[in-house]
Amino acid sequence: MTGYKRVLLKLSGEVFGGGKVGVDPDVVQGIAREIAAVAQSGVQVAIVTGGGNFFRGAELQQRGMDRVRADYMGMLGIVMNCLALQDFLEKLGIDTRVQTAITMGQVAEPYIPRRAIRHMEKGRVVIFGAGMGMPFFSTDTVAVQRALESRCDVVLFDKNGVDGIYTADPKVDPTATRIEQITFDEAIERGLRIMDQTAFTLARENKLPLIVFGLGEPGSILRAVQGERIGTLVTA
Ligand code: UDP
Repeated sequence: MTGYKRVLLKLSGEVFGGGKVGVDPDVVQGIAREIAAVAQSGVQVAIVTGGGNFFRGAELQQRGMDRVRADYMGMLGIVMNCLALQDFLEKLGIDTRVQTAITMGQVAEPYIPRRAIRHMEKGRVVIFGAGMGMPFFSTDTVAVQRALESRCDVVLFDKNGVDGIYTADPKVDPTATRIEQITFDEAIERGLRIMDQTAFTLARENKLPLIVFGLGEPGSILRAVQGERIGTLVTA
């Protein structure tokens, strides 16, 4: 069992809201406990959070808003998730830094990749907020980009309720089974849509391993970073 030294965890926005709009402090506290256990085990941790519990630009566009402005609202929503997570991590004694792609000096550091690496080397958990700072991107893509730039060994994608990649949609096809390991090329051949195409392509081109898993089971993040086969591992 080989563990990872530096990991990036992508948390979907939905998980912060516990299924509702906004942030559910109890849920965030639970996630913070899981992350604290990983940091305390000596693994360096970076996090990218989504913002779907507040706004998704594409959804607001469908309801008549300008896409660019709506995407900026999406990015601002993400920051609230970051601050909530930071709060609960710090309460557990974990040093954290939030770095945002949109500068907001009163609440977070600006995104400075080399400083982020330094924080992680010092044992601080770095939370990257406000997405890429650019409309038309998803936080899945941000997760892969930040992981590459801060030299993480793997990206763990929480897929909110689904515990990995399945041979078919398990909600539709009862015979669907979870895939333990797959290559990027096999996933394409089998037509499996794992995440948005930009994120998938960026990871594939740079041979960045991904673990797709669900937060459902307590301790699953720690077990995954320690090398236990949790969810689905996607490799080059
Ligand atoms: N967003 C953006 N650029 C980015 C990242 C996010 O414009 O680099 C916006 C976009 O509107 C997106 C929203 O922020 O819908 C929330 O992010 P996402 O949908 O990826 O969150 P998740 O689905 O993971 O909760």
